[in-house]
Amino acid sequence: MILALVNQKGGVAKTTTAVNLAAGLARAKKKVLLVDLDPQGNASSGLGIDKNELTHTIYHGLIGEVDGEACRLVAVRDHLDVMPANIDLAAAEQDLGESVEGALSLKKCLAPFESTYDFILIDCPPSLGLLTINALIAADGLLVPIQCEYYALEGLSQLMETVKQVQASANPDLHIFGIVMTMYDGRMRLAKQVVEEVKNAFGQAVFKTLIPRNVRLSEAPSYGQTIFEYDRLSKGAWTYKALAKEVIARVKE
Ligand code: ADP
Ligand code: MG
Repeated sequence: MILALVNQKGGVAKTTTAVNLAAGLARAKKKVLLVDLDPQGNASSGLGIDKNELTHTIYHGLIGEVDGEACRLVAVRDHLDVMPANIDLAAAEQDLGESVEGALSLKKCLAPFESTYDFILIDCPPSLGLLTINALIAADGLLVPIQCEYYALEGLSQLMETVKQVQASANPDLHIFGIVMTMYDGRMRLAKQVVEEVKNAFGQAVFKTLIPRNVRLSEAPSYGQTIFEYDRLSKGAWTYKALAKEVIARVKE
């Protein structure tokens, strides 16, 4: 199952969810590949990968300089492999834009690994540019993190429009796998309203697990640790574990 974590808004917890869901799934003994598709490389550094010391990253795989194997770091954690990224990836949109096949690069790069993994998670950049299009074409489903804040739904119609275009062309089976509500604060009436609003718009797609606002989640990446390593008793760890369970159950359905 290839899942793209998308939302063209920045700061909604795509990367936090990609890293900690990947770790949660790996701890549940699922074989996981995390693909960092953001030139900021936060998913890579969040796992303690020294992203500026890498000879090959996902960028080199995308432009066809090397195959997927060469840009894959194996056993970054138990059951967890990573295709890391760094600022090199910023050139990809321009490089790939020059060929008609440019939007299919990630799909090609991941094709040999589809049966190797239970889950391939793609952490997308905060835009609907060519990198995100590559992710939408490569993916079976979308995982959309939404921050429990004002204007939570803003931009989602544009995202759904892009999804429709990809469905109509390169990937007819693309679907919304799930919506994750993040940075939830139960004391705020607004947060509850946002969850209701998103449930009205997306129904069953919304996961029951709400990821709370939890400072431990924001601290962990600076230590290069997942939440399970940094503070496994935190609310953040419990809820990402619950989310992983829900994701596994949803695949079985
Ligand atoms: P995105 O990848 O969508 O841009 P990030 O995962 O980088 O978003 O999250 C944006 C910021 O919010 C980061 O500083 C991150 O540490 C913080 N953050 C994410 N989720 C939570 C949470 N549940 N509680 C507190 N801070 C969070
Ligand atoms: Mg990010």
